[in-house]
Amino acid sequence: MKRNLLLSPGPTQIPASICEVLGRPIIHHRTPQFQDILKEAAEGLKYVFQTKNDVLILTSSGTGGMEAAVCNLLSANDKAITVEGGKFGERWTELCCVYGVKTNVIKVPWGKAVSAQEIKKILDADKDIKAVFITLTETSTGVTTDVKSIAEVVKKTKAVLVVDAISGLGATDLQTDHWGVDVVVSGSQKGLMLPPGLAFVTLSAKAWELVPLSKNPKYYFDLTLAKKTAEKIDTPFTPAIGIIIALNESLKLIKKDGLEKLFAHYARLAQGTREAAKALGLSLFADASCISNVVTAINLPAGIDGEKLTKIMRDTHGITLAGGQDDLKGKIVRLSHMGCLDEYDMLTGISCLEKVLNKMGYKFSLGAGVAAAQKFFNTK
Ligand SMILES: *Cc1c(COP(=O)(O)O)cnc(C)c1O
Repeated sequence: MKRNLLLSPGPTQIPASICEVLGRPIIHHRTPQFQDILKEAAEGLKYVFQTKNDVLILTSSGTGGMEAAVCNLLSANDKAITVEGGKFGERWTELCCVYGVKTNVIKVPWGKAVSAQEIKKILDADKDIKAVFITLTETSTGVTTDVKSIAEVVKKTKAVLVVDAISGLGATDLQTDHWGVDVVVSGSQKGLMLPPGLAFVTLSAKAWELVPLSKNPKYYFDLTLAKKTAEKIDTPFTPAIGIIIALNESLKLIKKDGLEKLFAHYARLAQGTREAAKALGLSLFADASCISNVVTAINLPAGIDGEKLTKIMRDTHGITLAGGQDDLKGKIVRLSHMGCLDEYDMLTGISCLEKVLNKMGYKFSLGAGVAAAQKFFNTK
């Protein structure tokens, strides 16, 4: 029997206590028993989202939450800014296009982050822009966006700031209320260490003001309906009951450690991994100024096929890393720090990466990456 270690940035490794909850028999959702669970989830989510506002739970993958944000806030021909610095930033543009929203696209070279200044310039020039869509952690490139500085800029305008925090929430700091972020979207299978199936959306008072003005069609993702039913401690449709029950276990684990400790934990795993890459003579894809602690994207040496490498790691050794997407296909590997992972999991991943790189003909001193990470983990 092979291990199955998920070092991929979603789905992430699930803690044993959450697996145990997921294995319980199903209960009915229109019951006082499930209402208690929903109540507990509503409170716990506020802590992780760092907000006093309600966090709505939708049954869909994270992208459903992104779609809900676009179709509930805006109408066709409204104007918005999107930032394309990777695969997930592009998704905001695609969603806006589907709903007829006119996008002012900021193209950022992959591996770099957008600056608050670039956003300010566009907002200053066009006062009709209603929303700015950004990505907390661009999972495809390993970049973190400076949400705080961007919020500083956007909150002085009439536009709302919408953040895709599907990867990153619970793993890297996002002070929703304190920084003045209007809308945060997340999902269950990344930092929350659950199976895929839940999306989350929270809106500020400023964002809720836009909702009644939106003429876009919506049915399943109608946030007004979701809010109304949430106020009655209910859901409009059959929710992913089992995952919501498991969510409370995840929220309990996160609360127990505390967000700050978790952010430091993931930062440490990321730093150890970066040290290993350096020792292997491999560079990092993301710019040092905006590098993420949630996922590390490592450039592969010329002549090493990343598709093949990740396939061998997964099929022969039972360790899943993510490869590159689009133009980066075959050229990078991405190693997640999110999930139920510790330094020994990082060392396992690095060790396997070394083994397969060596087998594929890359010349380096075998064990150098593990030694560098080990050294870091033993001093920090
Ligand atoms: C994973 C991810 C998504 C997509 O989420 P799905 O659950 O696959 O719909 C969107 N944005 C970012 C930044 C992600 O990491």
